[in-house]
Amino acid sequence: MKDGKCIKCGAETVHMQENGIGGLYGLDVFDGRSSEKGKALTYACVTCGYFENYIIDPKKVKTISEKWKKV
Ligand SMILES: [Zn+2]
Repeated sequence: MKDGKCIKCGAETVHMQENGIGGLYGLDVFDGRSSEKGKALTYACVTCGYFENYIIDPKKVKTISEKWKKV
């Protein structure tokens, strides 16, 4: 997606926007007790509609690395 090519349909019609899908102030990131908004970067394909969100708020990335179970 980040290279402009959709991973689902293969079209080179990917667009990008900060907090594009999920909320004007980002996504709710759960810390085990409550959640706070974290900035996200959205990549969306305008051919098939597939999209991805990446958490880019460093504080929220730290919360995830500390509080969530590692897979
Ligand atoms: Zn697509």
